[in-house]
Amino acid sequence: MMNCREATKLMSDAQEKPLLLKTRFGLEIHLMMCSGCHNFKEQMDALRTMTRAYAKGKNEQEKET
Ligand SMILES: [Zn+2]
Repeated sequence: MMNCREATKLMSDAQEKPLLLKTRFGLEIHLMMCSGCHNFKEQMDALRTMTRAYAKGKNEQEKET
């Protein structure tokens, strides 16, 4: 079983490159059992969505001008 430090590292690694299925599975198990890491993931997903929406909006503005 992975610990919280490993789980958070894997979650940030997953932003850069896809995780191995086995690794992702272990992470999912940890997230189901650990509310701290679950919240961390929720926040990271929300942040990524916002960043993406911001970048998209910015590009569209630049295209118009
Ligand atoms: Zn954890």
